[in-house]
Amino acid sequence: MIKKILIANRGEIACRVMKTCRKLGIATVAVYSEADIKSLHVEAADESVCIGPAAARESYLSIPKIIAAAKKTGADAIHPGYGFLSENAGFAEAVEKAGLIFIGPPASAILAMGGKSESKILMEKAKVPLVPGYHGEKQDEKFLAGEASIIGFPVLIKASAGGGGKGMRIVESAKEFAEALTGAQREAKSSFGNEKVLIEKYLVNPRHVEIQVFADSHGNAVYLFERDCSVQRRHQKVMEEAPAPGLSPATREKMGVAAVAAAQAISYVGAGTVEFLLDAKENFYFMEMNTRLQVEHPVTEMITGLDLVEWQIKVAEGAKLPLAQKDLKINGHAFEVRLYAEDPAKDFLPGAGQIQFLRFPMESDCVRVDTGVREAPYGEGDVISIHYDPMIAKIISWGRDRETALRNMAEALDETHIAGPKSNIGFLRTLVRHPAFKAGKINTHFIQDHHHALLPEKIAPSPEALVLACLGLLKQRERQEEVSPDPWNDLSAWRIGGNDTDRFTFRDETGEYTLTVSGSTVTLPDGKTVQAHFEASGYDMGFFARIDGKEYDAIVQQSGAHLNVMYGGHQAELTYADPLHAGEGDEEVSGKLTAPMPGKVVAVRVAIGDKVKKSQPLIIVEAMKMEHTITAPADGIIEAINANVGDQVNEKLELIRFKV
Ligand code: ADP
Repeated sequence: MIKKILIANRGEIACRVMKTCRKLGIATVAVYSEADIKSLHVEAADESVCIGPAAARESYLSIPKIIAAAKKTGADAIHPGYGFLSENAGFAEAVEKAGLIFIGPPASAILAMGGKSESKILMEKAKVPLVPGYHGEKQDEKFLAGEASIIGFPVLIKASAGGGGKGMRIVESAKEFAEALTGAQREAKSSFGNEKVLIEKYLVNPRHVEIQVFADSHGNAVYLFERDCSVQRRHQKVMEEAPAPGLSPATREKMGVAAVAAAQAISYVGAGTVEFLLDAKENFYFMEMNTRLQVEHPVTEMITGLDLVEWQIKVAEGAKLPLAQKDLKINGHAFEVRLYAEDPAKDFLPGAGQIQFLRFPMESDCVRVDTGVREAPYGEGDVISIHYDPMIAKIISWGRDRETALRNMAEALDETHIAGPKSNIGFLRTLVRHPAFKAGKINTHFIQDHHHALLPEKIAPSPEALVLACLGLLKQRERQEEVSPDPWNDLSAWRIGGNDTDRFTFRDETGEYTLTVSGSTVTLPDGKTVQAHFEASGYDMGFFARIDGKEYDAIVQQSGAHLNVMYGGHQAELTYADPLHAGEGDEEVSGKLTAPMPGKVVAVRVAIGDKVKKSQPLIIVEAMKMEHTITAPADGIIEAINANVGDQVNEKLELIRFKV
């Protein structure tokens, strides 16, 4: 029996595994990097060990350090979670060699499924249907071009060692083939150190449907049905559901049987996922097998009522699978969305930074939240680090049918509020309300096909948002007056004209908006008036408001001149032109230059005291594999430089100060 598990991971997955351990009375050990010292997963564990600096290479990816931590704390098993070392056969082997239990498949199974080409050869033998293509050893251009013609265009070139969508090229016709091949090989070499590729028929608008399998060490294997993960950006999942909408029971069974055959062909043990592409006629084709627990496993748990981590632990202890195929049933429907620190408006560019406000929906039988960060009602939130995956949380909903589960998700998203790093919350809210999504008409091109509806142009803030922004500022002023009744601190001193009218000006990319508040009458930018007032709520930044009789539960979070107005599923970001600090905002634009996004400083082109010309390059920051040059906004002199080459910098950190 396993008594103590070390979780070789961080954040959300580490917390998730600990939840099951607590239920089973198993002690937990967290490992953490120096960047994660205050993280929730460290606090949640019974014991914790620091395993090195922030860079994953030197901490979460260090096999010797993790094994040493397990030895030191007397853990008898290691759970790898997902990502990091979870599909590293060398790690599984090292764990076993150290006399510890690896909660995952045998190293041989990880190796067998490690390469896309090699796994396809094995699957062909096991009679699992494959996408028509070539996955052999011959790699010369002429031969591969010939294979592409036999398969028929369009084809997809994939890096055999690939992952994360890298090294993939769609080729529409024979004349584009040579160039695409060179590109895919170059990317494969630089990302995976191996330029081997395979060629597949490029399926038009397929769905990504994957089967959860489970096997024990006694030769039993079952499938826990499917998940549809078609909604993707950059070939990466952002929303998943189970079961797949509209899938016929006959195809479900065929896919399940094929997935179990795939697992048995490699003597699989534990939790695994067999990924398929499904075409409009319900033909399905093997893509790859993930030899670990998946991020999206909760939707399977919601429709089966099972705890997959509990099954993993039991199987690792040598027990038989708790249930046979005939005992497994689908109950209702479940969705999962991944809340990321990313900017949908900038092609989902990953982000980072400190959370200023975070409120999750209330958990219930129908709503579950898996996260590695804490709710943050008072500003001092956890940090989404630039060193790791920018996922903030997974929100999972259940309902007795798809429509109910989706409605529960929409409500849960409306109750979720986040300020600080840019997030995809608005995008997710729009997605779950999209008519085509509601109708289950999804495929892997869904986001591209509905780009305009899902990512609308920035629109002017609603009148409610503007009124709530005023009320939020008034409430804050009231609170400050309570804290410091000193008349010199009276923030209402700037009231214009000596009467009781307050004037508020806000800006965003769409324009400037001025409102006046006199008693409970608020005059909107277009001259119309509404009646509005607020009442305090439990939250520091939150309040209840009434605008023309309608009630609002609002949060107004302020950092400097930046305001985040959040209410009932809406969010508006505004800049407040504070008359008390007039000019400060403008100075910020011309005098301080900040990092555009979290990244690494790769070049500093100026020194303190240098005279610079407008548009002259000053500093280059590399982020997400792209270089961003920060240039002088005007002619001036460099007064201070706050970054050196090689520094990791956070978004909005002041890099340079210069005098105009
Ligand atoms: P990676 O391992 O790099 O994530 P996958 O092989 O898992 O790559 O494919 C990722 C996604 O790319 C799939 O979910 C699907 O959307 C798309 N894709 C992969 N192969 C094909 C294909 N043959 N035809 C059409 N789309 C494909």
